Amino acid sequence: KLFNELQDLKGNIRVYVRVRPILPSDGSTQGSCIETGIDEIRVRNVEEKKTFKYEFEKVFGVESMQSQVFEDVKPLATSILDGYNVCIFAYGQTGSGKTHTMEGNPKDRGVNYRTLSELFRIKEERKQDFSFDINVAVMEIYNETLFDLLGSSKEKEKKKLEILMSKEISVPGLLLVPVNSPEDVINTLQGGYKSRAVGANNINEHSSRSHCIVSVYVTAINLTTKQKTIGKLHLIDLAGSERLKRTETTGDRMKESMAINKSLSALGDVISALASKKPHIPFRNSKLTSLLQDSLGGNSKTLMFVNVSPTIESCPETLCSLGFAARVK
Ligand code: ADP
Ligand code: MG
Repeated sequence: KLFNELQDLKGNIRVYVRVRPILPSDGSTQGSCIETGIDEIRVRNVEEKKTFKYEFEKVFGVESMQSQVFEDVKPLATSILDGYNVCIFAYGQTGSGKTHTMEGNPKDRGVNYRTLSELFRIKEERKQDFSFDINVAVMEIYNETLFDLLGSSKEKEKKKLEILMSKEISVPGLLLVPVNSPEDVINTLQGGYKSRAVGANNINEHSSRSHCIVSVYVTAINLTTKQKTIGKLHLIDLAGSERLKRTETTGDRMKESMAINKSLSALGDVISALASKKPHIPFRNSKLTSLLQDSLGGNSKTLMFVNVSPTIESCPETLCSLGFAARVK
């Protein structure tokens, strides 16, 4: 079933699991500990000699293609143009396929590019009746500080941003870049991703320890009635969910890990509070949930990809990630 069909049945929060294939970079791995069905995943914990089984709306196995994954994301694009706020997250340990799922690569693009292309396609389809303005921002949250990746100059420091909480939530000074085509989107996002490297010693390490947020703001004006609707899409490649290593209990690494823990657990708390319709939603416990406050819950739609690595060595982290997934679904 597609997202919009499921919505009436299950509320506005979906969790999809995606398992990446075993790769040469996994080295001399002992093999896979995962088996998948359409809506279930089984994880064999060799040490405990136990198999854990979880059910989710969708489970994308190792052979799943980007295009196939996108088929189950596509209906959300229509929702955005209809004025809904949508968040799509990728959660999982470093190396589990979050960036592959969201960004992909030039030969095999991921959810970000495909969703934006779909927005342009529907915009064209509806152009007799609506005029659409589409603007993009790219932000990063690192150590509980929000940065503007498009508004930063490429050489110097990243530009810091504050979140303003009045009647509506806003980010004063955030640079929004108008985009008119999929090519515009590629160029704009590329600029944002490049800025992530500014001030970082090791870009891969840095990007696994920060959240990257691509926000798309869509304004639609009905050409007959002049009525205006605004939809927002946030595409979030989360920091790696792996637990603190024993060697990292001091210094900068520990500070980073604590910031990541704080924001990932705050996100889990918010989504599970929303899913179980709790009266109080603890949005203010992290920068990430503060920023996304108007796009989680209410009339918004949330999709969480939980990415897992299939190797036996990753089994403990995989079980943690699936535990998180089970909590928010
Ligand atoms: P993360 O962002 O979670 O740290 P990446 O997306 O960078 O992980 O994935 C780690 C490696 O695995 C990359 O080389 C990526 O290209 C590869 N990879 C991830 N998912 C898949 C997939 N579904 N199919 C093929 N390769 C994948
Ligand atoms: Mg990544």
